[in-house]
Amino acid sequence: MNDIESRLLAIKEQIASHARLANRAPDEIKLLAVSKTKPLEAIQAAYQAGQRLFGESYVQEAITKIQQLNNAPEYAGIEWHFIGPLQSNKTRLVAEHFDWVHSIDREKTAQRLNEQRPAGLPALNICIQVNISGEQTKSGMTADEVFGLAGIISNFPRLKLRGLMAIAENTDDMNIVRDNFLQMQELFNRLKTLYPSVDTLSMGMTDDMPVAISCGSTMVRIGTAIFGSREYK
Ligand SMILES: *Cc1c(COP(=O)(O)O)cnc(C)c1O
Repeated sequence: MNDIESRLLAIKEQIASHARLANRAPDEIKLLAVSKTKPLEAIQAAYQAGQRLFGESYVQEAITKIQQLNNAPEYAGIEWHFIGPLQSNKTRLVAEHFDWVHSIDREKTAQRLNEQRPAGLPALNICIQVNISGEQTKSGMTADEVFGLAGIISNFPRLKLRGLMAIAENTDDMNIVRDNFLQMQELFNRLKTLYPSVDTLSMGMTDDMPVAISCGSTMVRIGTAIFGSREYK
């Protein structure tokens, strides 16, 4: 068994055990493997270990990988999730190549994605990013702003509103992290009652996955624990 395969196995076991601790079914929680900055070979190894959902944060890097794997029938069935900051001038590439975007925090970006989503593809799945910690350095809307944007997105025919995404405050204090995630859970539950298409609460990373699962996360975004630490250029 290679490194990536054994790490994936370990994470899936952790997800299952934290789900059970929270009285949840393990299959309520999807694993998004965050492969940003990692080479194609890392994605291929994860794929061979059964992983199908991959998250990327940098448009150009992601498109290069997607094009190589989409042309290889032996890597069929990958679902690509865009999770990074999205500038207006990059929306077309994202609309044409991704299945999901987790990082929508402006009407203008949503509108462009709706216009640019190719007719031959299913509607693009969307999560609204919430800046739940209120840190200046983080993207995302305030909790109050979410409902206005959700209403707009739900009327765009080429987008499908799936839920919310958040990154917890950058701290080792898990009480603060839990407080952030509990606020997200409440917001998610309110949104779900308004829009039947909403089923996804994207939260939890390598360092805070257990807390996220205990607070209702339905999709954890894990990079480091699968692929090792990242080196930025
Ligand atoms: C990089 C990234 C992750 C993965 O973080 P790890 O700590 O490596 O698991 C998750 N979500 C977002 C939005 C990211 O940018």
